[in-house]
Amino acid sequence: MALLEYENLSITLPGMARPVLDGIDLTVSAGEVVAMVGESGSGKSVTARSALGLFPTGADIEGHVRVDGTEVVGVDPAGLRAIRTGTASMIFQDPRAGINPVRRIGDFLTESLRVSSGLAKGPANARAAELLGAVGLPDPVRHLRQYPHELSGGMLQRVMIAGALTGGPRLLLCDEPTTALDVSTQAEIMAILGRLQRERGLGMLLITHDIELAAAACDRIYVMYAGRIVETAPTAQLFAMPRHPYTAGLLGSSPPLHAPDGPSARLTPIPGSPMGLLESAPGCSFAARCRFARPGVCEQSPPPLERYGGALVACHLAGESLTSMDNPSTREGS
Ligand code: SF4
Repeated sequence: MALLEYENLSITLPGMARPVLDGIDLTVSAGEVVAMVGESGSGKSVTARSALGLFPTGADIEGHVRVDGTEVVGVDPAGLRAIRTGTASMIFQDPRAGINPVRRIGDFLTESLRVSSGLAKGPANARAAELLGAVGLPDPVRHLRQYPHELSGGMLQRVMIAGALTGGPRLLLCDEPTTALDVSTQAEIMAILGRLQRERGLGMLLITHDIELAAAACDRIYVMYAGRIVETAPTAQLFAMPRHPYTAGLLGSSPPLHAPDGPSARLTPIPGSPMGLLESAPGCSFAARCRFARPGVCEQSPPPLERYGGALVACHLAGESLTSMDNPSTREGS
């Protein structure tokens, strides 16, 4: 059984032209690191938050989200509390937005520990210091007495990771955990997350707009566009053989972590803007930005997610020929 499972999850908001999420199927197993990549507005964060029952206000929800076998859609408050304080935790993008600025770091951590583990004050303090040590903060006892404004963004994100570990979760949901940090701190935070994931055998869902970061950290990648999954494959396969033009576009517009050509490697931006919630299309939602779009084919109906070898791809032309399947840059019209 998957630790995290989405089955045909759709979320619609009144007054919007298209669903926020449209038929999401996704799994994360214990000990597996899975990424969800895409531009802003693709639905990545809504997907991750759904695992903790954080659905948009007023949303109409269809389908299923299961965390360790427990259905999240429609779960009662006690069941939701059990998921949030035990099985699953989330790390958000901006650590300063997730912590009370007028309370000490120690209060933030021990409060979580006392709620999730029922620890008394003394043992909770000792455990909080232990967790700060586990995320690489030197002198944890001093940090427990400090206020958030006394810590840098990177140190505060380590505190948030420690906070996420208080309930001993088996699933970690990381929503752009390094986006608000400088480049060297980003690497440190990803190294800490990777070490904790391996040491504790955590299942991890990493939300990021950075496909190269996802490749460095994850076993499998889901690519999202306009609320739908348009491609998913094991990381190495996705990089070697992107089958969806949007995936190829993300790869072509991201600076490679280890560029064979060095920093001069040429980047090609994806033209246009992501589709907003007030826009819709009768066919492929990427058609307006896709250089392979074929009149009379692509605008007729939304392409279904279909299997091509080890990948699932939602593109009408994904199976057109072996050459075009292997590399979208060689498709007709390129
Ligand atoms: Fe491009 Fe057509 Fe494939 Fe959509 S279905 S990604 S428009 S080729």
